[in-house]
Amino acid sequence: MTLKHLNVTIIGAGIGGLAAALVLQRRGAQVTVLEQTEAVSEVGAGLQITPNGMAVLTALELSDALAWSSQRAKAVVLRRHGDGREVLRLDLDQYAADLRYYFVHRADLIKILADAAREAGVQVRLLQKVERVDCGPNPVVHLANGAQCGGDLVIGADGLHSQARRALNETSQPFFTGQVAWRAIVPNHGKLPAEAQVFMGPGQHLVAYPLRDGSMVNLVAAQERRAWAEEGWHMPDDPENLRRAFAGFGGEAHHLLSQVQDCALWGLFRHPVAKHWHKGAVALLGDAAHPTLPFLAQGGNLALEDAWVLGEALEAQPEDIPAALAGYQRQRRDRAVRVVDAASRNAWKYHLRAPMSWPAHQILKLGGRLAPQRMVAQFDWIYRHDVTRQA
Ligand SMILES: Cc1cc2nc3c(=O)[nH]c(=O)nc-3n(C[C@H](O)[C@H](O)[C@H](O)COP(=O)(O)OP(=O)(O)OC[C@H]3O[C@@H](n4cnc5c(N)ncnc54)[C@H](O)[C@@H]3O)c2cc1C
Repeated sequence: MTLKHLNVTIIGAGIGGLAAALVLQRRGAQVTVLEQTEAVSEVGAGLQITPNGMAVLTALELSDALAWSSQRAKAVVLRRHGDGREVLRLDLDQYAADLRYYFVHRADLIKILADAAREAGVQVRLLQKVERVDCGPNPVVHLANGAQCGGDLVIGADGLHSQARRALNETSQPFFTGQVAWRAIVPNHGKLPAEAQVFMGPGQHLVAYPLRDGSMVNLVAAQERRAWAEEGWHMPDDPENLRRAFAGFGGEAHHLLSQVQDCALWGLFRHPVAKHWHKGAVALLGDAAHPTLPFLAQGGNLALEDAWVLGEALEAQPEDIPAALAGYQRQRRDRAVRVVDAASRNAWKYHLRAPMSWPAHQILKLGGRLAPQRMVAQFDWIYRHDVTRQA
């Protein structure tokens, strides 16, 4: 309880903000979360929580609640888009049996975090839109309703369009990455097993995995595009547009797409990883510091890691917040840069066009046959990273 006299204001009740609130409140701080929306909720879509994120949820004693409401992933299967034939099976059950990967409904994860935070004593204040943050040893948060608040520490967990990031870094607009993603949930009529199916096509791919009790399937369909006209970064879309864009996808992929009744389209935007994650007594966390493409499913997992490390850093130096925040950035920034870069490269691997796709698929097949364990272990540096066990 070394953070007993610390008053903390967190901007944003997403995965990162709620996890940080819980971490800090449990260590004795008094935490208030300011959220702009009228309810703490999430879009109806899935999320992969990988072992590095699970490590944090386990340390927060939330892993049972998460496991109860989600599917434990047994494999990742890469497939050809045209006929759905298997190219590579990464058998997590066999080659990473000690690790836990889950397919989670985002709303369930947010509820688990929000319930635990409120139970620990965190105040979550809704309809509190932050307009500006003044940094310094006594930071001030300016709200759209004219009110101001502050505290000993302000944490910007306010996502891609973060106001806190603006206060700490040179102004930069999020840039379009040349990729869009549709998200949808469909019934699991085909009884898709607890595996992530990745259907790889030229310039596009579709990921499908079951959620909750297995009765629904989460779809993420990513496509390369030159232009993105909308100013906002996601919007409802006509399912026919999705089906037209993925018309070349056959087999199970075609069947899944044929069932989509509602979908939303995301323009995938990014900033570079923020140069400055702290100034005075203000810090950044999650997408506010390092928005990433979703192609390694790490944005939410990194936000969980950030929350834990921030708590540890503050507990190690509770009397010197700027020094604690500097330690937090030192521990986190290089890893975030590495993961963000790897996620950007992964899209390219899934999107190969002929004539490159055929030999690349043969190499993947051969790797899967000769060294399946090595194929599974290629991302061990991400998944086996356990921030809760580091000194
Ligand atoms: C298609 C897609 C698939 C993905 N799949 C995965 C996956 O499988 N696994 C994974 O780990 N990650 C995944 N991600 C990434 C993940 O969704 C994000 O990285 C994660 O949600 C970031 O959490 P956060 O708390 O930092 O920010 P956010 O989730 O963006 O939360 C920010 C919160 O702050 C609030 N807010 C914003 N501005 C203000 C303001 N001015 N005042 C008050 N409140 C404010 C917002 O309303 C929101 O509640 C995916 C992303 C996309 C687009």
